[in-house]
Amino acid sequence: MSAKILDGKKLASLSEEEIKAEVSELISKGINPTLATILVGNDPASETYVRMKRNTCKKVGMESIAVELSESTTTEELLVTINDLNENPNVHGILLQHPVPSQIDERRCFDAIDIEKDVDGVTCLGFGNMSMGINAYGSCTPAGIIRLIKHYELEVQGLNAVVVGRSPILGKPMAMMLLNLNATVTICHSRTQNIETIIKNADLIVGAVGIPKFIKTEWIKQGAIVIDAGFHPEKCGDIDLDHMDEISSAYTPVPGGVGPMTINTLILHTMQSAKKLLTN
Ligand code: NAP
Repeated sequence: MSAKILDGKKLASLSEEEIKAEVSELISKGINPTLATILVGNDPASETYVRMKRNTCKKVGMESIAVELSESTTTEELLVTINDLNENPNVHGILLQHPVPSQIDERRCFDAIDIEKDVDGVTCLGFGNMSMGINAYGSCTPAGIIRLIKHYELEVQGLNAVVVGRSPILGKPMAMMLLNLNATVTICHSRTQNIETIIKNADLIVGAVGIPKFIKTEWIKQGAIVIDAGFHPEKCGDIDLDHMDEISSAYTPVPGGVGPMTINTLILHTMQSAKKLLTN
């Protein structure tokens, strides 16, 4: 058996062309789609992620506003910034780069983002709406994974899906999105017992653990769909993808699978948020 490769790089690049055309159309109608990025402090990885997001905006002809705040910013100061962006009619999406320095109440700041501008899917309200099947921008990495699943026409209904990881931005929303597609979902985390046995029964596995090659090749059931959200400096993910071509029915390569879909989904959501102005 030769597995389908879920090529996120290719899909993101196709999607970028579509977004570019839509952005150009919106601009011709007087709407300039704009993403505001907020970076607090000097974490080099966060600086890189924000730069990549802004570069992608530029690539599709979208505006981005960069707000950079010092390491010593307080919760109250950050809330004022978020409120200003909420009230700015020229801003269609707000990205608060995670993590913020430890003195800041990150949850409170995420939840201060206007639901209409929560293009990164970080608010509790957005998560709740998405879980209930009410229109909301889902968290970008799991939403990008669902876009890959749909693009490759994989049937999820009735599958025994196992999500390894339960973070607010990845594991939890991923589980809800799969549940909404009628999968039977199990969520594993650091206190889960017999994780190997649980994974061995999975028809669909999502690795969102943050540990290189945590999920072993021999735990993967023949014919399973394998989604690896991890990415580590040694250029591997959270799943050992050796022999996936023969074992799985479909899998995301690392790199080039889930990774490119995350930023693309953020940009897509921002364009969609701006587009809503045409109908409001
Ligand atoms: P995180 O916040 O650190 O969460 C990791 C999750 O894994 C937690 O729920 C944790 O359980 C669980 N876990 C840790 N050790 C475990 C163990 N031994 N057995 C079972 N579960 C365990 O990480 P994250 O932000 O969700 O990211 C997860 C991975 O996705 C990372 O590799 C990250 O680089 C990647 N990622 C990729 C993108 C992208 O754009 N491609 C975006 C975000 C993240 P507890 O809740 O019990 O602690």
